[in-house]
Amino acid sequence: MKMLNRLQGFLTRKYFAVPAMMMIFLLPARPLAAQEKVTKEAKVELISVASAENPRQTWTLVIHGGAGGPGKGTMSEETEKGYLGKMDEALSLGAKILEGGGSSLDAVETVVKFMEDCPLFNAGKGAVLNEYGKAELDASIMDGSTGMAGAVAGVTTIKNPVAAARLVMDKTSHVMLVGRGAESFAKKMGLKPVDSAYFITPERLASWKKWKSSPSGSNGSQAEKEKHGTVGAVALDQKGNLAAATSTGGQMGKMAGRVGDSPIIGAGTYASNNTCAVSATGQGEFFIRNVIAYDLSALMEYRGMTVEEAGKLLIAEKLTKQKAAGGLIAVDKDGNIAMPFNTSSMYRGFTKSTGEHEVAIY
Ligand code: ASP
Repeated sequence: MKMLNRLQGFLTRKYFAVPAMMMIFLLPARPLAAQEKVTKEAKVELISVASAENPRQTWTLVIHGGAGGPGKGTMSEETEKGYLGKMDEALSLGAKILEGGGSSLDAVETVVKFMEDCPLFNAGKGAVLNEYGKAELDASIMDGSTGMAGAVAGVTTIKNPVAAARLVMDKTSHVMLVGRGAESFAKKMGLKPVDSAYFITPERLASWKKWKSSPSGSNGSQAEKEKHGTVGAVALDQKGNLAAATSTGGQMGKMAGRVGDSPIIGAGTYASNNTCAVSATGQGEFFIRNVIAYDLSALMEYRGMTVEEAGKLLIAEKLTKQKAAGGLIAVDKDGNIAMPFNTSSMYRGFTKSTGEHEVAIY
């Protein structure tokens, strides 16, 4: 042991400062014979030694603000700048959490909350309105490290539905709460309720009126042109944990009580540390029927596809063949990103610990 201590000291003082630091971790501080029995704590220490030897310390955050918005050339430059600016703000909020060693779960919740509060997007304030001119909101969140998930659907008085979804995951044994039950649970958990009028912006009201007075208003086909702006975030944190969250007002003029893919785990949201984290946007019914978010993970897990290949297969081939419009964002366990969409635009962006950063619409 004396020899070991001397070697340790020599290495630390002299030439090999960094490897010597590892040696200090690896060498027992006291002679093995004098050590207590192996305990759980000792095992935890060993695990942290391993991660100190192999620090990843990289993180990735990807967001979307919905697919199927106006095509290129239809928005003013100023409006475009507004969207890009808000996505930049959302990304830097999440980046701060991830850079500080925070969890991917906290990052996606914070980012989605910010986008829910931003009236530009179809989630929280500024959500599209149902057939009766009311905002009915859906949201979900999933923790890739535990496989736990939470969701709320059809809520009308919860300011930040994604926060309620997180509480369903953290504080109940359920995955999804809907309508009144979700609202009273959120209130009990300390989320302050808002009047349902809070969500209605003049812009959304105007497009709802347009939808209502259009000949197709009652059958909802016009709704396709008016729905965009669902929000979502997926992240990989420094510990290698993945998380995903999605929030939406759904489709303009939707039937009261209609629930889309966004709050459905496996359809609009999915995360598993084995594969990837996914948040989808588009015609929800197709994403539900094709179980898109889980299918992406399954293609990676069982077929060995990359996140890019799987994303492309689902959006550019499978959904496109069905004439289903939409897109998704995904990040895999190594920080690789996919952002496929088959619409004229998808508000999207990403930021990474490497300094790469991008926001785009078309
Ligand atoms: N997927 C959402 C829904 O169907 C809407 C959207 O993403 O545009 O509710």
